[in-house]
Amino acid sequence: PAPLAEHGPAQIIAMCNQKGGVGKTTSTINLGAALAEYGRRVLLVDFDPQGALSVGLGVNPMELDVTVYNLLMERGLTADEVLLKTAVPGMDLLPSNIDLSAAEVQLVSEVARESALARALRPLLPDYDYVIIDCQPSLGLLTVNALTAAHSVIVPLECEFFALRGVALLTETIEKVCERLNPDLRLDGILATMYDSRTVHSREVLARVVEAFGDHVFHTVIGRTVRFPETTVAGEPITTYATNSVGAAAYRQLAREVLDRCRPVE
Ligand code: ADP
Ligand code: MG
Repeated sequence: PAPLAEHGPAQIIAMCNQKGGVGKTTSTINLGAALAEYGRRVLLVDFDPQGALSVGLGVNPMELDVTVYNLLMERGLTADEVLLKTAVPGMDLLPSNIDLSAAEVQLVSEVARESALARALRPLLPDYDYVIIDCQPSLGLLTVNALTAAHSVIVPLECEFFALRGVALLTETIEKVCERLNPDLRLDGILATMYDSRTVHSREVLARVVEAFGDHVFHTVIGRTVRFPETTVAGEPITTYATNSVGAAAYRQLAREVLDRCRPVE
């Protein structure tokens, strides 16, 4: 991909699936890092009170004084008071920790409670090309905030037997948000993860996913490899931890697809 002469305004992508352990956090870190390698300015938003995205980038969430929680709930706080640089040039992080779980409750009584994240991100958009929001495994108010802020959604699906279970509920939620809060929201892609080409099972699940979602499925498929759990321990993306690995190549391929697909609507 060609380098950019200037940056922004950012495309916002929500990485979303209410099922845990499907590769949302892994895909957020590694898609972000691959886009940054291609010269894009990237902001990752940890929007899960578990703070796994922050941990995966070498940040200890327990030691943070301010997080995305404060940015949501406190007027007058600016994003640069919360932003952290990552070891990847051009990629920043809005970290989170368990404090964010309080926002789910506190936001309920706010005016325009679904658009708190959109408001918080708005001043940052001119500085980035992509913002990727790592959602928590639920369809609660935090995830609705992510979908309200986003231009598009990527849904990681684990190539396992029950992968499609729950996806109908997720697409219904996306449709509702689209109707009521964010008419421009698009489902940009289903991303097959943890694919094991040696098993018939993985191949069957992938075939069913393609049957169900057709063009919405990314051509890139993320294979299952222990390199990914290793990167979490290392606190860095696979693109730097194992730069020549199959996993790193897969996320670079995904990044090229995203550059192609997740563009602003003209
Ligand atoms: P989620 O954010 O959806 O809960 P994670 O990205 O945290 O999912 O992944 C869950 C676990 O699976 C983590 O331990 C992660 O390291 C591991 N993992 C993610 N992607 C892969 C993969 N392609 N192959 C093997 N393990 C993976
Ligand atoms: Mg996660």
